[in-house]
Amino acid sequence: MKEYGIGRRNVMRIGVDIDGTIKDTHRAAVEVYNKELNRSVRVEDVTDFYLDQAYGLTPREGRKLWRKLEDQIYSLGIPLNHSVEVLNELVRMGHEIYFITARPGMRKIVDVTKEWLKKHGFPYNGDNLIMNAQDKGKVAKEIGIELFFEDAPNHLLTLLQNRIPTIIVDAVYNRDFPHPLRRIHDWREVYEIVDAKKQESHGNHSHSNK
Ligand SMILES: [Mg+2]
Repeated sequence: MKEYGIGRRNVMRIGVDIDGTIKDTHRAAVEVYNKELNRSVRVEDVTDFYLDQAYGLTPREGRKLWRKLEDQIYSLGIPLNHSVEVLNELVRMGHEIYFITARPGMRKIVDVTKEWLKKHGFPYNGDNLIMNAQDKGKVAKEIGIELFFEDAPNHLLTLLQNRIPTIIVDAVYNRDFPHPLRRIHDWREVYEIVDAKKQESHGNHSHSNK
């Protein structure tokens, strides 16, 4: 059990991915790709993690196009429903939120990412954004994350390997993830998870010490 000092015993350090976790990045990407390629693919028809197949691109073409368009994709709106309000509420409850993303750490992308978080009112405090987290399990372990929200199968794996308690943010491309982890379909389900986690770490104390 972690102790953060008197009055802070219920506080958790929570890691939150961005793309596909608090942002509907597929929807944003399809919008940008359609415009660039003059296509009319529907987001519902993209069932892979990558968009390549839906657009008939080779992985190499896909990577190149993503690199070209990613700052546009990242700057588009589209937070996932209730993610802003729930994360702010968690901060009000005293929890610490870290945004942990594998987005590249180039200045332009960092700026676009910070702007997007601020524009939509996410609890970004100038010091809780970690870019270029290629090995999220390792990063989460280093900063002492006690609960992580993630959508991408490759990152779910490294989080598992590092024994970081992880929740899958449901997406069509992660439904066959082979390990049993709790899954959310709506950010409002998070309150109950956080509550249960606190009780678990305090040996079944009741709600009364909230
Ligand atoms: Mg993601």
